[in-house]
Amino acid sequence: MSLVGKNINAFCSRCKLELAHIVLYEVAGAVQGVKCKTCGAEHRYRGPKPERKREIPAERRPGKKPALAARPIRPADARQWELRNAALPADPVVWDYRLSEGYEKGDLIHHPEFGRGFVEKTTADSMEVLFREGRRHMAMNRKPAPDADV
Ligand SMILES: [Zn+2]
Repeated sequence: MSLVGKNINAFCSRCKLELAHIVLYEVAGAVQGVKCKTCGAEHRYRGPKPERKREIPAERRPGKKPALAARPIRPADARQWELRNAALPADPVVWDYRLSEGYEKGDLIHHPEFGRGFVEKTTADSMEVLFREGRRHMAMNRKPAPDADV
């Protein structure tokens, strides 16, 4: 079926817009020449205006701030943590970490950020805890002091 005389959307090089055109001639069923219904220009049919790819360079992509460098996991600590964790009973007693509490060596604590930790050393008001990502010194036994006078 011939398209000659039919309306077709094409990019008009004069109007710089995709507009209705009339097919002037075709070759082997492919539209070759069109006439812009808006400005009357006759030109080759280039098809609808191609979608321009909007590639945004990665460095200019909005959002996505670089994440803070994560503390590298020390393999030795992680391995030891895994061993200790695997050796735990099925339903171990885990204490939620609280600054005001006192813990003892061998206690198992849960820290909201660092996860499960094994208390390894303690002093009067601090302890060393083996977390999966490494050892940390944590404060403990710090009683809330509403009136901080000495
Ligand atoms: Zn035109």
